[in-house]
Amino acid sequence: MTPLRIVHLYPHEMNIYGDTGNVVVLRRRLEWRDLPVEIVPVGIGDALPSDVDLILGGGGQDATQGEIGEDFQRRGPDLRAAADDGVVMLAICGAYQLLGHEFLTHQGTRIAGVGVLDVVTNGSDTRLIGNHAVDSAWGRLVGYENHSGLTTLGAAATPLARTVPGRGNDGRDSTEGCVQGNVFGTYLHGPVLAKSPRFADELLRRALERRGDSGELAPLDDALALQAADVAARRPR
Ligand code: GLN
Repeated sequence: MTPLRIVHLYPHEMNIYGDTGNVVVLRRRLEWRDLPVEIVPVGIGDALPSDVDLILGGGGQDATQGEIGEDFQRRGPDLRAAADDGVVMLAICGAYQLLGHEFLTHQGTRIAGVGVLDVVTNGSDTRLIGNHAVDSAWGRLVGYENHSGLTTLGAAATPLARTVPGRGNDGRDSTEGCVQGNVFGTYLHGPVLAKSPRFADELLRRALERRGDSGELAPLDDALALQAADVAARRPR
């Protein structure tokens, strides 16, 4: 079987609050099932490899998002083509914002996005910070958020999960993250996949099915991950 090829976008620049852990979680969940996997780090100036199955991107400070902005922009056509082709993507916080149409930072800097997701983000002078647990169609998602950008979903994007006011995409509309085809965006750091095993498997299942492999994944013992999720979900924000 050809290894599932996972691209890790900007591992050095966009990796706050443990987001690289999402790559580790997916790799380990494949290895535990004896499914071959290849991780390809893609930094500034690197070409996106061909035949990508999954693309992961993490969060970053506003300044870092500006630094990688031009490079990210140049990838727009490739990323849009990949999304149209059903490549599975998971973008956290800063990467989520950049997959949208644009991010207007709190300082007034406009960072153009690539328009893979029908969302726009505006910086605000408050930050949404804290532990967070939300219910999605793929089980409870448990993580941590810290952002000043407030994201509004357009018609093509559906919320990934529901939350209480004061949290999530914009602190007001009770939505958290978004889904558009096989592209997922979320504000949840943590890394979110470590405590959200059903969601992790949903990404793998979609990636395997897209390339014609069986998406039936052998069950794993997720007791520790679920216990960690319980503990984290009980913590005050
Ligand atoms: N810099 C962005 C914001 O503050 C994203 C932050 C992050 O990735 N945690 O909104």
